Amino acid sequence: MSERGVEKHAVGASGKSQEKADAQPKEIFNAPYTFVETYNQLADAVLILSRSPYLVVDCEGYDIAQPDGKLSLLTIGTAEARDLFVIDVLNIKDKEEASVVDLLALFTNEAIPKIMWDGRGDFVEIFDWYGVEMQGILDLQIAEVAKQARHETEPTRQARFARQLQYGWKAVRKHKELFSGIHILPGLDGVVRSYKLGEHLAKDTEVVAMHRAGESGRWMERPLPERLIQYAANDVYLIAVVYTFFLEKKWIQKELKAQSYRYINAEKTREDKQRRQQIGASRLLPLGVLSDPSALYGTLHVCAWCKRLLDLGSFQHSSYTQPTPGEKGKKSKKGQKGNVGGNTRSLRRKPCCRVCVVSAMKSEVTIDKEWIIVVT
Ligand SMILES: [Zn+2]
Repeated sequence: MSERGVEKHAVGASGKSQEKADAQPKEIFNAPYTFVETYNQLADAVLILSRSPYLVVDCEGYDIAQPDGKLSLLTIGTAEARDLFVIDVLNIKDKEEASVVDLLALFTNEAIPKIMWDGRGDFVEIFDWYGVEMQGILDLQIAEVAKQARHETEPTRQARFARQLQYGWKAVRKHKELFSGIHILPGLDGVVRSYKLGEHLAKDTEVVAMHRAGESGRWMERPLPERLIQYAANDVYLIAVVYTFFLEKKWIQKELKAQSYRYINAEKTREDKQRRQQIGASRLLPLGVLSDPSALYGTLHVCAWCKRLLDLGSFQHSSYTQPTPGEKGKKSKKGQKGNVGGNTRSLRRKPCCRVCVVSAMKSEVTIDKEWIIVVT
């Protein structure tokens, strides 16, 4: 997880607590790992990975999922991160090699859960590099948001919004419907801290600072500094720890697979990501992820900004009264003009979904705001 804007807005990582969050623990746990640089080493790794009931997956690279993004490392762990393999993809790029074919077969096997934290960028880079779409993703970032949605009251969620994104209490309370069901995406480090999963479990602050300074190009250096390889291994270790904790808490619910699928699809390409990022929407969970918009009654509508197909509730909408125009064919014959049919109640909605509207409020970019009539 190298270029994740949301990391900066992690749970408990705003304002005063930011300093605390950035303070390096005395000693962070360094997860043991195997560095994979050859096809033979990969073949050994795949043998071990294929025996695991699930895989923990994360990527590192330059500007992940950005237009110029490049993959550097692919880290894969077995259950509970008992084995961790950090794969140097610059040396493992031949898709025809038997060991790579076997690895990709694990990726595309839907029956093997892939435990990830915000898998959107990883999905894009893996597809670009190896030409396969990862299947069976269980995204723990979504599991955390879904848990919040189940357990929190609306005022608690509004308070988080006001506190972390500085929208101001008044704005959030005044526009309750606009902010309804919109969630801030949590960061992995913040989740580890807020659930007190281990003081020694944290990201290396030097590498975090490197990302914040826009120096993710260092992931492409070879030989790669040991510190970066260790960071990649630790990230997967953290994800594995969170997964074990979530399992114990029964926060991995049966809907998570479908929710994760919708989440990945919300930013399936670099262009999708860029568009959402342009208005700062990447910090917010896209609408239509926690529940399936197509399962609800009614037609779906496209957001003019993020291009997602969403239910009407995802947009600001209202009914209004308008005069019914006369029937076109008869109008000229009878010479009638104007309102011959009385009034009709119609539906209208804003062109952009509420996440795009809320994001644009904090952005320099202007989005389309004119009401449009909903054709039913
Ligand atoms: Zn939108």
